[in-house]
Amino acid sequence: MSQTILIIGGGIAGLCAAITLQELGMKVKVYEKNNEPTITGAGIIIAPNALEALKPYNISDDIIRQGNPSDGFHILSDRGRTLTQLSVPSEYGSLHSLHRKDLHHILLSALPPDTVEWGKRFVRIDQNDNHARVSFNDGSQAVGDLVVAADGIHSYIRTQLLQKDTYRYAGYTCWRGVISAEDLPGLSDRFIETWGTKGRFGIVPLPKNKVYWYALINARQSDTSIANYSAKDLHRLFQNYHDPIPTLLSKTTTHDMIHRDIIDIEPMERFYSGRVVFIGDAAHAITPNMGQGACQAIEDARILAECIRTQSNHREVFTDYDARRRKRIIQISNQSWKIGKMAQSESFLFTSVRDRLMKHTPKMFYRKQALSLYKFQL
Ligand SMILES: Cc1cc2nc3c(=O)[nH]c(=O)nc-3n(C[C@H](O)[C@H](O)[C@H](O)COP(=O)(O)OP(=O)(O)OC[C@H]3O[C@@H](n4cnc5c(N)ncnc54)[C@H](O)[C@@H]3O)c2cc1C
Repeated sequence: MSQTILIIGGGIAGLCAAITLQELGMKVKVYEKNNEPTITGAGIIIAPNALEALKPYNISDDIIRQGNPSDGFHILSDRGRTLTQLSVPSEYGSLHSLHRKDLHHILLSALPPDTVEWGKRFVRIDQNDNHARVSFNDGSQAVGDLVVAADGIHSYIRTQLLQKDTYRYAGYTCWRGVISAEDLPGLSDRFIETWGTKGRFGIVPLPKNKVYWYALINARQSDTSIANYSAKDLHRLFQNYHDPIPTLLSKTTTHDMIHRDIIDIEPMERFYSGRVVFIGDAAHAITPNMGQGACQAIEDARILAECIRTQSNHREVFTDYDARRRKRIIQISNQSWKIGKMAQSESFLFTSVRDRLMKHTPKMFYRKQALSLYKFQL
């Protein structure tokens, strides 16, 4: 039976849910607070589990075609020595990097043009046994059978319904940027992450001869002196790291940089409340250490559609969705948190032992983890 589904938030989670639910024949509207597609952010990596989840909708092929592939991540020391390779099992395919705005464009293009209503900031929800009513800042309202809360880490719906703040500051802060890859000596086509006592640095080649980089350093939360770092400050910090890190930072302008403290949210006790189901960062924002936040949002969208397809009422849909998502989300969220702590260590003693251990850990160990991480299960 066709239901009217209101999706709040037109990010990766909201757009993917619109795609999977429209395919089921649902009447779907996405309400996005921005007046037009406005993507802040740099590059993004989409892993095989997310590509598999999107396969029935012909989107994976677009991501693969427009993205830049890598067989995994190479973890290096600050001097450029390989500590380990986190490879994607070849039977699963590759990681694909692309600019966030290109991913957004792919997702929007998969939807009929009137699916997203722009300039609609959600302000309130009222629900009863029969329907849910959402109100927007311009005074308009919409009524639906179900509401999908996809309004990101600072979800206002979550705050309104659960009235509980569950943010955790990870202890480190992040800059990102995308610059031209021309004249960057030593740039490999692999995805690289460098771990040193001054911080972590990632280099991810993008299509169209661009490169996406990110830097993570330990800091107090909301430290404005650090938040205001210029490209020169970052260059100074990473000047003794291997090439092309210093060169890359010397070619970056402060204007190219985006800054953000890294926080996550403890996974909610339940991913639903009444007629509202939470997906993506609104439900379970994850630290970016495993590159899985958006990938899990995509899995959410696919699994939610599957639950709607197979269950008969919204209570069954939501309990099924919760049961299918909970274990995997908690596992990835916890593992990502631990990796962050280990990777951000500033202790010379700890990092020497850590680096030696990484070098000698059998490949089979990483492969086992990768087989489970990159497998999408319906
Ligand atoms: C540094 C960093 C690097 C990352 N790298 C990766 C990566 O490589 N791979 C990966 O898989 N994940 C990555 N992630 C995680 C990924 O970015 C997020 O998990 C993903 O963007 C979440 O998508 P979302 O749609 O749930 O939330 P969002 O992207 O936050 O989208 C929420 C949308 O809701 C809208 N909205 C908010 N409030 C309202 C309101 N009141 N009314 C209406 N609309 C509203 C917003 O404008 C926005 O469009 C990274 C995260 C960080 C911080």
